[in-house]
Order: sequence, then structure tokens, then C-alpha cells
Amino acid sequence: MANHPDRYPDNVPGLYYVDDQCIDCDLCRERMPDIFVRNDEGGHSYVRRQPVNEDEIAICEEARDSCPTEAIGNDGVGQEAGGAPALQSPAYCRAAAPAAVE
Ligand code: SF4
Repeated sequence: MANHPDRYPDNVPGLYYVDDQCIDCDLCRERMPDIFVRNDEGGHSYVRRQPVNEDEIAICEEARDSCPTEAIGNDGVGQEAGGAPALQSPAYCRAAAPAAVE
């Protein structure tokens, strides 16, 4: 299970993140290359932007479920400032996600 305090600092703030259990297997990046990208120097994935619609959220959940080391977390929002654990519903994710980069 991903651990929010162990997330890589290059993840954008938000629900989804990759923590230091990532083994650079490429699975998440193949599934959603616009969201999961590689840190070439560190040899790991990180979340470049948060999902902004139901389809993207579903793919992020697939990636999270398929990650062999459970390095993808979906409980990021609300913990950046030491707040309460995040709600994990897709509706909350949509509301918290930044606008898509065009
Ligand atoms: S699926 Fe998991 S282990 Fe593989 S690159 Fe993505 S975060 Fe890393």
C-alpha cells in the first residue's frame, strides 16, 4: 500500500501519487503516459498531473490496482498541509483536480 509521506517530491499535489516503492516497471506509464511519467534520473514514475474526468480516474485506479509494488496512492488530497485523510470518491477527485493542460 502506498504511503503518502514516502511519495516522490515531483508528484503534483492531489489525490494520486507514486511513492518510493516504485520499481520502474513502466506499467502505469504505458497505461496513462499523460499522467504517469518517468523521472529519468531517479528511475521511477511520478504523477505529472491529476486525472480530470471519469475515464482518467478509472485508468488511474486500474494502474493503482495493477502496480506490482502498490506504489500508487489515491489518498493524497488533504494531507499536503497535514489535514485530514482525503476522501477517495471520484466526485471529490474531479472537484480537487486542476484543470487539464491544453
Ligand atoms: S506500475 Fe508501479 S512500479 Fe510500475 S512504474 Fe508505475 S508506479 Fe512504478
